[in-house]
Amino acid sequence: MSKKHNPLRDPGKLSPATLMVHGGGRRSPFNETSEALYLSSGYSYPSSEHSERLFRGEIEGGHNYSRFANPTVDMFQDRMALLEGAEAGRAFASGMAAVANAVMSQVRAGDHIVASRALFGGCRYVVEEYAPRFGVASTLVDGRDPANFAAAMRPETKVVFIETPTNPTLELVDIAAVAGIAHAHGAKLIVDNVFATALHQKPLQLGADLVTYSATKHIDGQGRVLGGMVLGSRELIEGDVHTFLRQTGATLSAFNAWVLLKGLETFSLRVERMTRSAAEIARALAAHPKIERVFYPHHPDHPQYELARRQMLAGSTLLTFEVKGGQEAAFALSDALAVILISNNLGDAKSIITHPRTTTHQRLSEEARLATGVTPGLLRLSVGLEEPADLIADLGYGLEQA
Ligand SMILES: *Cc1c(COP(=O)(O)O)cnc(C)c1O
Repeated sequence: MSKKHNPLRDPGKLSPATLMVHGGGRRSPFNETSEALYLSSGYSYPSSEHSERLFRGEIEGGHNYSRFANPTVDMFQDRMALLEGAEAGRAFASGMAAVANAVMSQVRAGDHIVASRALFGGCRYVVEEYAPRFGVASTLVDGRDPANFAAAMRPETKVVFIETPTNPTLELVDIAAVAGIAHAHGAKLIVDNVFATALHQKPLQLGADLVTYSATKHIDGQGRVLGGMVLGSRELIEGDVHTFLRQTGATLSAFNAWVLLKGLETFSLRVERMTRSAAEIARALAAHPKIERVFYPHHPDHPQYELARRQMLAGSTLLTFEVKGGQEAAFALSDALAVILISNNLGDAKSIITHPRTTTHQRLSEEARLATGVTPGLLRLSVGLEEPADLIADLGYGLEQA
């Protein structure tokens, strides 16, 4: 009985929603439907010879220690690579472990990094504070104009690191233009893609060499675990990235990988719904008299609207707005909310509001804050899965108190 080959067995023929339910899955001899959780730090071998060949790297897909190879983590990595359209990926204990690995695995003393100055706090710290301690100089530039990257490049520049849209003001960096500049100087481009998500922005297709994620955000998306990912070519991932992970050990636990695999099953549903709601809320807030400005990539008021349409398939699940009346008004608004939580996570099923000036950007000087648009009245909203009408009503009440 010969079965004809169903073309849908090729993952390249499937859409993201389908891949996120099935992609990367491997069944144990028990034929479980839900992916198995392999809580094991080590593995035993049928013979000493097998063990010798495994340690020599001659056995494809073999496991010798869960610091750098675990079957549940493998499934998560493979599912993420399918989503990204990447040849390979490695999972990490957190988003910061992933970013630190991606950046530090590509440089050595004497090298130079160029990065956009509007970065997630921890990312900026790695580039601005840690890299120089190890003899790697860095230059931070205003990422909105690609010419600023070109001007900062030096012969010893090995890495260009960007985040787009940026935290918290949702400014954009032109990925394709910056990739061209980086490659012309022999440097690698690393893109932190958390704010756009793997569903709505494809940095590798635009020329990036490595893409990083905090899986803590939309991939778990339900506030349970931390995790991170680095994705790119097989050469970079199985070389520098894998070696750095193996030897420094910021490994994702099998349990967290399992939670994140389950998160990916509903990832596209959640991200699409949250993005639609964010766009709706951005429209509603833009028309409110107590709002100074709204920042949302796919809103026509965004200063880089044309780039946003070209580079991103949809807006974002986040929006930022400036309330009239400064910090006092921002606090009054936040404190009056009933549904939206005051917190600093993002990409969660629960809507979350953050006052960047006094929380995520507290460490920076007022001058550095204002340079990246973090004003006293600025609030960042991560839109969750609640009914958008309820969120708009909650914000409307908050605005009355502001
Ligand atoms: C959250 C976040 C990180 C860090 O991820 P953790 O999982 O918290 O370590 C890095 N970059 C961006 C853009 C983030 O939002």
